[in-house]
Formats: sequence, structure tokens, C-alpha cells
Amino acid sequence: MTIVWNIAVVVLAFVGMEIFSGLFHKYVMHGVLWRIHKTHHIKGKGYFEFNDLFSFSFGAIATALVFLGIREFDWRFWAGIGIIVYGAVYFVVHDIFIHRRIRWIEHSNIPYLQALRRAHKAHHAYTDKAPGEEYGLLWIGKKYWQKP
Ligand SMILES: [Zn+2]
Ligand SMILES: [Zn+2]
Repeated sequence: MTIVWNIAVVVLAFVGMEIFSGLFHKYVMHGVLWRIHKTHHIKGKGYFEFNDLFSFSFGAIATALVFLGIREFDWRFWAGIGIIVYGAVYFVVHDIFIHRRIRWIEHSNIPYLQALRRAHKAHHAYTDKAPGEEYGLLWIGKKYWQKP
């Protein structure tokens, strides 16, 4: 039973992160913290963006959870793992596949990945705080499945 429960916590943390980060992106990053997030919408010179601070913060929270729960392997450990897995997927999809910060996966024939890229590009079509669309990453609108 425990193994099922632990996997459920990982999945819940993963799904929760997609929902939370979408809302956080929409209401906080495109809100009071726009000054930081702006560095991701308006390209600067350097490789790193001030916006990367968000990824590091979420990474730090997840790592802290893992360490807090590691003694008993309690829910904090598994929630931390779920957030780390989400962060890793986010990094590969968003930073590598969509924004090509590392030259690795540049093209894909997988319809879902193509749709993901279209959706995120739609988000980047806006360079202002508001309005905007597609704040989530993995859960995307139906219309992006169609090729333009
Ligand atoms: Zn944004
Ligand atoms: Zn982006």
C-alpha cells in the first residue's frame, strides 16, 4: 500500500506543480514580480536571465522537502521528488526544446510536443505584463493541436 501512496504523492506533486506554476505565472510573475519575469519575455544579452531565479527557488524548495523527509521517507520526500521531476521536465521542454538554451532536442515529430511549442510561443507573442495567454506549460488549449 505504501508504494501506491508514495507514487500517488509524486504524481500529485507533479500535477499540482503544473496547476500551481500556471497560476503563479499568470497572477504573480505577470503581476507584482513582472520586473523579474520580464527578463524572460524581453531578451537581454547574457545567457542567464533574472527570471531563472524562479527555477532556482522552486528547486531549493523541492530539495529542502527531500531533505526534510528523507529520514522517514515520508510525504515530504515524495512531494519533493515530484517537484524535482516536474522541474526536470519543465527544463527539458521549456528551456531546451522550446527556447533552445542547450542545443539538443530542436525538432520533434511528436504532435503533443509541437502543440506545446505553439502554445508557449503564443505566450511569448506578448511582451507586456498583460494581457496574455497560455500560462501553463504542459496543459495546453485544444487549438494548439492544429497545425497553423
Ligand atoms: Zn510569461
Ligand atoms: Zn518561455
